[in-house]
Amino acid sequence: MQFHGTAKVNRLGHLEIGGIDTVKLAEEFGTPLYVYDVALIRERAQSFRTTFDTLGVKAQVAYASKAFSAVAMVQLAEEEGLSLDVVSGGELHTALAAGFPPEKIHFHGNNKSIEEINLAIEKGIGCFVVDNFYELELLEELCAAQGKKVSILLRVTPGIEAHTHDYILTGQEDSKFGFGLENGQADSAIATALKSGHIDLLGIHCHIGSQIFETTGFLLAAKKIMAKLNDWKAAKKFEARVLNLGGGFGIRYTSEDDPIPASQYVEEIIAEVKNQAEAYGLKMPEIWIEPGRSMVGDAGTTLYKIGSRKEVPNVRQYVAVDGGMSDNIRPALYQAKYEAILANKALEQPEETVSIAGKCCESGDMLIWDLPLPKSSSNDLLAVFCTGAYGYSMANNYNRIPRPPVVFVENGEARLVVKRESFEDMIRLDLPLKEKVRN
Ligand SMILES: *Cc1c(COP(=O)(O)O)cnc(C)c1O
Repeated sequence: MQFHGTAKVNRLGHLEIGGIDTVKLAEEFGTPLYVYDVALIRERAQSFRTTFDTLGVKAQVAYASKAFSAVAMVQLAEEEGLSLDVVSGGELHTALAAGFPPEKIHFHGNNKSIEEINLAIEKGIGCFVVDNFYELELLEELCAAQGKKVSILLRVTPGIEAHTHDYILTGQEDSKFGFGLENGQADSAIATALKSGHIDLLGIHCHIGSQIFETTGFLLAAKKIMAKLNDWKAAKKFEARVLNLGGGFGIRYTSEDDPIPASQYVEEIIAEVKNQAEAYGLKMPEIWIEPGRSMVGDAGTTLYKIGSRKEVPNVRQYVAVDGGMSDNIRPALYQAKYEAILANKALEQPEETVSIAGKCCESGDMLIWDLPLPKSSSNDLLAVFCTGAYGYSMANNYNRIPRPPVVFVENGEARLVVKRESFEDMIRLDLPLKEKVRN
């Protein structure tokens, strides 16, 4: 198995991440536990940024914080010179609480509420990525009421299908997101935005999907949008300063996945936009991108303690861990695949094939099917790799299972950045029907 980032096997035969033995981490912080390899996140951020810098292209690399939003993560993004995408008042609040510069925050979402929009206007965020006509009208109204001006991008759906799982496909025309590029909606949204006294239209945004392994979709989208920008320059005297091509860059969850390096997406996108700009005689826009998964996905590992085992004779060995769909819903939701090892027996050879079950009351609560593992017993430590994106951020309290803590590891040091929820937290918002009669 190919490890990610600083992960390796130490002299004790244990998995080590960020220079720390994961067996020690499990002892200190308990299980399940999300562990983030901070050096790998920094490396990912820098590889996106330096590619733009090297090619001398003005850019913003915005971390899509929905992949993993927490105060410490937002602060790390700021340290690495990233901008930040948020898609809700909660993510916005997290960013502001972390002290993230509001002018580098981009606000997404197909149904932003009045409260969310007002908060964002009041705090002076960098831009709204406007998704629909309702929002455009609302934004105009709320800006007028606050006497403020905002910058926006218009999100368009360029009608391109990313080759990936249907549930996470958002670039096609039949999508809840964005203005259709081909059906006239984008033209009319631009006309409306240009008329506004409170809106500064910076440019165009699109996001064609997620976990994409090729550049074709991005290049096609760029080509379609540049052609439209050419029309809009002629017809509306509108010249885009920003072209945001979204996120969706693929990562290697298992050996079946074969991603290309971050730099390659960026280089090819820049080359395509430059070509088109030259061909049409348009100014080269700033290029913005929004990696989420590719920024944090392979930097995250979840540690679980193995508990029960059930054999279905001649069929399957179920091995259960102390978490499951409550801390990683992706296998149940998208049939997402993961690889794992026994962190405390990392040098032992696989001896059997087992299926890793969660502890939730749901047959679909399986983390990994048919995983080759050394012989395991209860209290062994299972490390599931690549859980850094959409793991903690989609974690839930199904079965009133407290969400695990998050620890950042780097250079031999571990730092708790999200605490473990307690049973008391499970009833924190509950209001009783009557006074408690017994403990
Ligand atoms: C989800 C999302 C992203 C990030 O996608 P990843 O696949 O995590 O890189 C970026 N932009 C928009 C608009 C999104 O909805």
